[in-house]
Amino acid sequence: MVTQKPVIVLKFGGTSVGDVSRVKLVADIVARHRKESPDSNLIVVVSAMAGETNKLVALAKSCVERPNPREMDVLLASGEQVTVSLLAMRLLEIGIPAKSLLAPQARIATTAEHTNALIEGVDSERLNRMMEDGTVLVVAGFQGVTEDGDITTLGRGGSDITAVALAAAANATACYIYTDVQGVFSTDPRMVKGAKLLERVSHEEMLELASLGAKVLHTRSVYFAMRYNIPLVVLSTFAGALEPGQNGTWIVPEGELMEKPIVTGVTYRLDEARIMIQGMSPDISKISNLFDVLAEKSVFIDMISQETVNANSVNLSITVPDENSLTALETIRAMVPELGAEGAMIDRDIAKVSVVGIGMRYHTGVAARVFRALAKERIDIAMINTSEIKMSVLVPRKYCEVAVRALHDEFIDFDVATSEEAA
Ligand code: ADP
Ligand code: ASP
Ligand code: MG
Repeated sequence: MVTQKPVIVLKFGGTSVGDVSRVKLVADIVARHRKESPDSNLIVVVSAMAGETNKLVALAKSCVERPNPREMDVLLASGEQVTVSLLAMRLLEIGIPAKSLLAPQARIATTAEHTNALIEGVDSERLNRMMEDGTVLVVAGFQGVTEDGDITTLGRGGSDITAVALAAAANATACYIYTDVQGVFSTDPRMVKGAKLLERVSHEEMLELASLGAKVLHTRSVYFAMRYNIPLVVLSTFAGALEPGQNGTWIVPEGELMEKPIVTGVTYRLDEARIMIQGMSPDISKISNLFDVLAEKSVFIDMISQETVNANSVNLSITVPDENSLTALETIRAMVPELGAEGAMIDRDIAKVSVVGIGMRYHTGVAARVFRALAKERIDIAMINTSEIKMSVLVPRKYCEVAVRALHDEFIDFDVATSEEAA
């Protein structure tokens, strides 16, 4: 029996393979990992070149108004086909045995929910067999295959999910996510110059940060890393990774954190819309029926707030993903008579700004400081949502950046509570 070598997974995002010179740089990073870990096999996952998936989406939309999801996936998956082949060619050129694999070849099995499929399994034995002679496998991110052999994609930013799912299937010793910034920052470093590079972030915080807008990691990739206990690190392709000071950000179990800051990060999302139903009946069975109908239409609802106007009338607001907002609005408008409402309006000019930190579990006063920081900038809050480790506020979109900066100034740098204090 062949003893299985440990496996390391490396993932390179779109900017990292954005042109041929960058593909060459990526090949050099792969070569370095191979030299540093001669006893490990390597799986390399790549995204499409930066901007390519957007171009493919636009191409489809220029052809038809509502692209068929199955055909859309065949189109979208083509971006990653280009980069896996280029990288494998380059690796071969510099003397590294390598082979590119598309999802059906890597047997990445998914559900049939086109454009948003879920990974169900990976044939790790087959991957291990292909790596037995030291071949580096270069696997297309973002794509999968159904039981019937149809191509699927995992949702935008889905190459991160491919990488961590392969790492879980291969029981990898680590999964390195190479990207265009040095790691996970206290807020989007492209928006706030003073954003702090975080050395360690707990799985739970990273799940919240990712789902609330820090697109540096896909939420489902963090979930896989947490569930299968895969050491996950985010680092830069361009900053001489693994050199002193360039160690990136490790995503770790909460118990491994020395410090539990009240707020670890500030995030924002611009892809939600708010729908307001005015003057509707407070009858709970009517409200419940409304949510049933929206669920049947597969509309995800994020925030909900209700305001009493008088004994016979309430105003109800919800936020939904912008891509579903017109379906939601049409559905609600059709229900206006049965809801006994005056009408429904939509506001797409909103931003959801959030603060996230596990220290929030142990400290009071976070809401007060959020309100104070935003009040100083005269920013009105339209809706609020909280959980144990996050607080989100809905603000006018034009104030998004000011709100992010105000909350970053308020919480980051000043509040490093030690785990002892937090206990
Ligand atoms: P890739 O193509 O490598 O997958 P993405 O564009 O998906 O890269 O994610 C990296 C980007 O995420 C960064 O360029 C940065 O602008 C953005 N980002 C948003 N919030 C954060 C954050 N808190 N920390 C780091 N990057 C962030
Ligand atoms: N190419 C896909 C996208 O742009 C997947 C990824 O980059 O992770 O969404
Ligand atoms: Mg990404």
